[in-house]
Amino acid sequence: MHEVNDAISHTHPVMEEYTGHLVGHAHIDLQWLWEWQEGIVFTADTFRQAAKFMDEFKGFTFSQSSSCLYQAIEEHYPDLFAHMKKKVANGQWELVGGRVCEGDTNMISHESHARHFLYGQSYFRERFKKTAVVGWEPDTFGHTIQMPQILKMGGCDYYYFCRGGKDAPLFWWQGLDGTKVLAFDEPATGSWYNSDLSEKNFQELLDFEKDTGSKDTIWVYGIGNHGGGPTREQIEQALAWMKSGNKPNVKFSTATQFFKKLETKDLSKIPTVKDDLNPVFDGCYTSHSEIKQLNRQAEALTTSAEAVAAVASLGGFKYPGSAFRTNWEQIAFEHHHDTLPGSGTHPPYERTKTTLGRVIAEDKEIITRALESMVVKLTPKQGGLSLMVFNPTGWKRNGWIETYLVKSGWDSGEDLDPANAVVEAPDGRESRVILLDKRSKFARFWAADVPAFGYRAFRIKNAEGPRIMAADVSVEWPVVETDKLTVKFNQDRGTIDSIKVKETGRTFGGGLGKVEVHWENVQNMSAWVLGKVDKFEPMRLVGHAVASSADHANVTFRYVLPAHNAESRPTVVVQTFRILGDSDEVTCQVDCDWQAVGTRARPNPMLRVAFANPMPGTTATFQVPFGAYARPTNGREFPGLQWADLSAPEAGIAVLNDSKHGFSAESDALRISLIRASFEPDPVPNPGKHTWHYSIVPHERGWQNARLTQRAAEFNQPLLPITVPFDAHGDAPHEFSAMSVSADNVVPTCLKLAEDGSGMVMRAYESLGVPANARIRLGVPPTGGNWVNFLEDRLASAAVSANAVEAVFRPWEIKTLKLALPRRR
Ligand SMILES: [Zn+2]
Repeated sequence: MHEVNDAISHTHPVMEEYTGHLVGHAHIDLQWLWEWQEGIVFTADTFRQAAKFMDEFKGFTFSQSSSCLYQAIEEHYPDLFAHMKKKVANGQWELVGGRVCEGDTNMISHESHARHFLYGQSYFRERFKKTAVVGWEPDTFGHTIQMPQILKMGGCDYYYFCRGGKDAPLFWWQGLDGTKVLAFDEPATGSWYNSDLSEKNFQELLDFEKDTGSKDTIWVYGIGNHGGGPTREQIEQALAWMKSGNKPNVKFSTATQFFKKLETKDLSKIPTVKDDLNPVFDGCYTSHSEIKQLNRQAEALTTSAEAVAAVASLGGFKYPGSAFRTNWEQIAFEHHHDTLPGSGTHPPYERTKTTLGRVIAEDKEIITRALESMVVKLTPKQGGLSLMVFNPTGWKRNGWIETYLVKSGWDSGEDLDPANAVVEAPDGRESRVILLDKRSKFARFWAADVPAFGYRAFRIKNAEGPRIMAADVSVEWPVVETDKLTVKFNQDRGTIDSIKVKETGRTFGGGLGKVEVHWENVQNMSAWVLGKVDKFEPMRLVGHAVASSADHANVTFRYVLPAHNAESRPTVVVQTFRILGDSDEVTCQVDCDWQAVGTRARPNPMLRVAFANPMPGTTATFQVPFGAYARPTNGREFPGLQWADLSAPEAGIAVLNDSKHGFSAESDALRISLIRASFEPDPVPNPGKHTWHYSIVPHERGWQNARLTQRAAEFNQPLLPITVPFDAHGDAPHEFSAMSVSADNVVPTCLKLAEDGSGMVMRAYESLGVPANARIRLGVPPTGGNWVNFLEDRLASAAVSANAVEAVFRPWEIKTLKLALPRRR
């Protein structure tokens, strides 16, 4: 076949059997080496020119993704938008992508993935009455393993991309759950997303057939990055090819037409790829630390706020659906592949900080108002101080609540003595209250069994019987001992030497929580690519302190990184390890005043925190969107979400985090990258103070045994308390769950109201890779229910009874349940 191809010239009659699908395109980076207002202007110029060419050249086509671009044109250039709408309607203008923008897929939450498609496709449907069916991520830096299922749930059957491929131009891409999409890897054909048109395209046709069996291929052409699109010369070149004989068929086409044509062909030759398309730019999992943290907070708070508001709406609270949509759209905008990855210049990030800060503030306000609407409907028990604790996650959980035990000035009841108090649950069971500060009456109490997507009211009162004693914490420096753990610190190194779990007698040693300075060699594209590390060393310890009280111990280590060049000042890091009396994990707060500035002159520092491998035969697994994925233990940096784990068959160590994405594993340690001194394109990406948290979780057996997905979600989405007014009077129950799932391996990711206002939506996924039969228990009897996709389109009816829905999950399956609820009076 190869010889035959070589014998065919590009003007041979046989070429008429081949077809090149011309897809005009302009790659648009929303903000990168420019700010968004510049992006708006060149997007308008690009779109105006494309629409004009459509008038001038019959049949000329153009394809564009990203609902946020269309939204901007609608807002700022309504006349152009009206012109574009006609072109979309007549098929010359193709909507692709289906997402809010071409954004990162590795570092965004489960729900962010769903909302990209929900709001991107909803916008396309509302304005154009069309749904994009081709996923479109030409420049996105890598693609997560569950993307095939995410695409299908988002209405897309196909995927067009350029980075992270496996050298196959066309393949079936299979996700963890078995879902497959047809994926086209442009550079594997020798081309790129902003290619020119030349005779080289004809050779691509022959090569593509050799690899795939298809005589049709796609030619994406047009100037890009800073907009542009097809030029007059390119269009005229295409028209000239169309006129001359003995050439391949050349036609103005769309990505959709190309993929649909492919599906009519025998594709038995193409491979199936059962892997993610990573890593691409490993520096991007860490660069611009603050933006990643703000994204994580905005995602977590919006998810929590939706759950609170959805439950509160059952009692009449007006669900702020449009505010949530705006918040998600703005979060999704900042996922753009030069924003969240940290590869932009500094000015755009000032806007990003303002946007995400506003989202966070609004979510907090919604949470407060929704909690208020529920708490006024309770009648507290007489005496003491009552608090309602809301659980924004979809499983029953326990947790410490910190609050001020200050009663209303109008409460004439008994005086509450915070030093001698207990907390009482609705079932009468009592738990501990720990006074943390006498003057302000700041205290911590144990909130037990707070129902899934619901709340429980607790009363704090003076203890009548014998006091419930705090779980013991004793410090015999350098050892901190509780009922559950023996934690031995190393005061010379500023690390944890070992954690012994008393229940099993197992010791996890070798050094945990070691802050290291990794010196990255200088190279170009420093924000994108980790420099080669020839040298790393522990950060220099300069002091420690130990404080213990009531039921916990705080161990603080202080480290310094001296200025490494004339631009830098000394960087100070403080790690505060906290050991609670009855906890089986050790949490750490990292306060970092980052003053290192990278230059081209010499290697630049990156901070990592290391956790020694507990035992030989270890495998590394990192959480990924809607899943978990094994990684090689070769030191290579890979992206992950809220947890990373090193486990041998008998036991392992996991680390939860609230803001990090760059993880690496070696045979001797798991490392989390904290911050970098990249210098290009932003010379000073993350100066100043940062606070991050992680938690060390030793566990028996593999990661599947440690409920890591739930624990990490709890670490990122805390319980939400509110004081019950002492004179509130209502008939609301003292505990309530709107929805819960019986199977431990099925993890809910959201509870919200349906976009069309017709009920409640809950999404969950199977999180361990094993099948599940789950019973979803309902707090309110529904009038019906359906399984839907991310767009909330009906897929199948659900087996709904008065108080439950039965559900079967295949391994790693994502399911979305939409329940119809009785109309409120
Ligand atoms: Zn780009």
